[in-house]
Formats: sequence, C-alpha cells, structure tokens
Amino acid sequence: SARLREVPVGQYSLDGLRACLTGERADRLDATGARWAAAMPTVWHVNSTSDGGGVAEMLRPILGYGHALGIDVRWLVIEADTGFFTTTKRIDNGISGVAGDRGPLGVAQAEQFRRVSRDAAADLGRHVRPGDVVVLHDPQTAGLCEHVADLGAIPVWRAHNGADRPNEHTVRSSAFLAPFLRRARGLVTTQPHFRDVVLAGGGGVPSAAITPFIDPMSAKNNALSQSQARSLLAGWGLLAGTGARDPGRVPGLLVVREGAAPAPEVPMVVQVSRWDSVKDMAGVMDSFARTVAPATDAYLSLIGPQVDGVADDPEAAEYFRRCLEHWNRLPDPVRSRVQLCCLPTADSAANARVVNAAQRHAAVVTQKSRSEGFGLTVTEALWKARPVVATRVGGITTQIPDARYGRAVALPDPDDHFGLSITELITSPETSRAIGASARERIRAHFLPDSHFHAELRFLGELVG
Ligand code: UDP
Repeated sequence: SARLREVPVGQYSLDGLRACLTGERADRLDATGARWAAAMPTVWHVNSTSDGGGVAEMLRPILGYGHALGIDVRWLVIEADTGFFTTTKRIDNGISGVAGDRGPLGVAQAEQFRRVSRDAAADLGRHVRPGDVVVLHDPQTAGLCEHVADLGAIPVWRAHNGADRPNEHTVRSSAFLAPFLRRARGLVTTQPHFRDVVLAGGGGVPSAAITPFIDPMSAKNNALSQSQARSLLAGWGLLAGTGARDPGRVPGLLVVREGAAPAPEVPMVVQVSRWDSVKDMAGVMDSFARTVAPATDAYLSLIGPQVDGVADDPEAAEYFRRCLEHWNRLPDPVRSRVQLCCLPTADSAANARVVNAAQRHAAVVTQKSRSEGFGLTVTEALWKARPVVATRVGGITTQIPDARYGRAVALPDPDDHFGLSITELITSPETSRAIGASARERIRAHFLPDSHFHAELRFLGELVG
C-alpha cells in the first residue's frame, strides 16, 4: 500500500544567500518573504523522493529558506511499491518524448495508478487543510490531484520534464494523465512550450513557466578550493592521490576503471547524471572515443548515483549495465581513459560534496541529454564557472542561449560537434575562462532561490487571490 510521509527541513541561514545576491536583490528577498507570508496559505509540495534527483534538490532550500523568510511551506513524499514507479517512470519518459521501456500504459496501469494514488491520499487529511495550496510534482503525484480538490485545497501540477516537440510518446503520456488532472487549478512547467506537451487538452488551466534554481550555499554548490576538490576526489578513488577509500568497504560505491586513477593535472571531462538513457552517458563515451581522445590527453569521468535500492527509478540498474557493456567495448587505449562511478546515496551530504568536487575539478562539464526538463547539473556547473558542452534541448537552451555561456549542440549531431566542442574548450583555456565567468553571472542573475520565490509567489498568489 502507499502512503505520504512528511519531510522535515529546518530553517536555513539567509546570510550566505544574501552575500551571493547583487544590488537590491537582498532587500527584495525580504520583501518577497513578507508579501508571501501575508498573502498565502500553507503551501505543500509533494514529490516521490526526499533524496536524489532534481526535485528533492530544490525542495530542501525552498523549505529551508522559506522558513527563514517566515513562509509556511511543507513537504510530503509519496511512498509506494516498485510496480507503481515502473508505471510513473514510463509516463515520465513519455513526457520527455522518449520511448523508455515501451511497456503498456493501458487500462490496467490506469487502475493501478488510481488505486495507489487513492491509498496514498488517505494520508492527505492528516496534513492538508481546506484552502491550502498543494503543488504536485511530476507524474508520480498527479493521481493525488482530485483528492486534494476533494479536501477543498488548491491542487497545482508541476511537470519538471517536457519535450521540445510533441511526438507519439508525449501524446500517449499526456493522454494517460489528463483524466487525473482534470481538477488541477494550475499548471507549472519549466518551459512555456512544454505546456501543451505535458497536458494536451489542458485548455483553460492557468499556467506558468517557472525555471528551477540552485542553492549556492548547499554542499553541492558552495565554494571549494582546487586542493580541497582534488583531495576529496582522491578520497573517493576518482583521482590519483593519497587517502583513497577501499571501494569494497563503502556500501554503494563502485568505481569501474582500468589501470590507475587519473593524475590531477590531466584535463578531466565530467558528466554527472542519473543512469538513464535520456542522459546518454553511452553517447558521451562515443564522442570521447571518436573525437576527444585522439585530439587531447583528457580523461572522462561519468558519475551517477548508486543503482541498487533506488525506489522511484527501477530502470537505473538496467541502464548502468548497458553503460558497462559499452565501456567494455571501447577500443583498448580509450577504455583506460574512461571511468564510471556510482556514488553512495545514503549520505546525501557526502554525495553532494563529491559531485561538487568533480564539477569544480572538471576541465569541461558535459550534459548530453536527449531531452531535459531543465538540467540542474548544467546550472550547477555554470555556477562553478565551468565551460559546459551540452545538447540544445529543453531547459538547457534557456541556460546556454548562445556561445557566450557555453556550447549547446543541436541534435541530431552526425558530425560530432559535441566532441569537437569539448576538444575546443580543453585546448582553449582563455575561451573557457571567459565562458565560465559569463556563465556564473548568468546563473546569479536568473537561477538562484530568490528569483524562484518571486516567480512562485506571482503565480500561486494569483491562484489563491
Ligand atoms: N545528482 C547527484 N548525484 C548523482 C547524480 C546526480 O547529486 O550521482 C544530482 C545532480 O547534481 C542534480 C540532480 O541530481 O542536482 C539532477 O537534476 P537534473 O535536473 O540535472 O536531472 P534529473 O535527474 O532531475 O532528470
């Protein structure tokens, strides 16, 4: 059976965040908090995991800073069995415009979806009061919409994924979800053009495009010196150095590599992603082997979370296995310049620190997604002033609109502009530095928590008022 669990988050200090904001923005932050506290009922966020993935990454600071600003905002997580998450993963793949496991989304899945959502919704009354706003994140929580409405609260559905063009997969998923979302009072997407992709026939529902943000003070993003980053990576066995843990003794840690760990001086290409075909880690290996390895002395590190025991993502283990096979088939001299790493997720702060270190140490950060709702890994790398080579899809286009801020390569990419861009940036440190500096300022201007509170208040305030 399914249930809803409340995730407590303590109050964050606003000092560090304020110091990151330029000009009058620190004052505006307080003003937004005061207006929010005066105008809004309790706002609930409901998603499917408290650790791992982009949504959890955002909800923690929304609560932490929200509480510091006097905003009443809370967080529920839906817990259900694997069968349910297999179905919701299928829907989410579809919304992203990709085929995924191609399993059925028929009457049986709709019944299961309805039943599990109803079970979980039995817990709603213990938390949500009439008049509250309940933001339901992604397909996993869409089935709660009608139950939230029954309680007299205001359901808003927020889709974090989307596709640039509708296709058979998006149509199938949005048709599946539509009956469950009939009573939604608002719809939030990360890009304006995702609206009709994720909710075909969403006709009269008020909607807004609200981009995610990163927390500059989190363990994932806070400042680390070059030497701190190096010793952290050495400690996790990802870089040559002293103090490496024995991977056999760290549950969940797996480093797949041939030969010694790369030296700190070797330029490292890094992609951090969930193990999901949408992130095309295998494609990064191909670009590296075909274009980057012959032209540079770079090393490639593909980093993702541990794949066993990830409740809401049952396909991760399967895709990681395919990446391993792919790695095994790389030509000999290239294979010894590529490492795959699964990081334990149990200690989320430790996980975040390694990701932080890897992104900071990278000569180039890549994100070769086939589709991307927003792409927080890109935001994180841009904030660290890294040159990023990504694909021109979904929310990445908003983050890297032109060549001043990085390289966003259009798909399909038969001539491997992706690999060529990586080589270009590795071999042109001046260009990389300039891009990195502009990229960081772009994130500061648009994708920090204060901008998000502002945008949320504008939209949710209208629904309430
Ligand atoms: N992430 C992480 N550890 C990992 C892999 C990913 O902490 O091993 C984080 C990553 O840093 C980012 C989030 O998970 O904050 C992924 O968000 P994104 O929007 O890039 O993609 P999503 O996973 O939501 O599709």
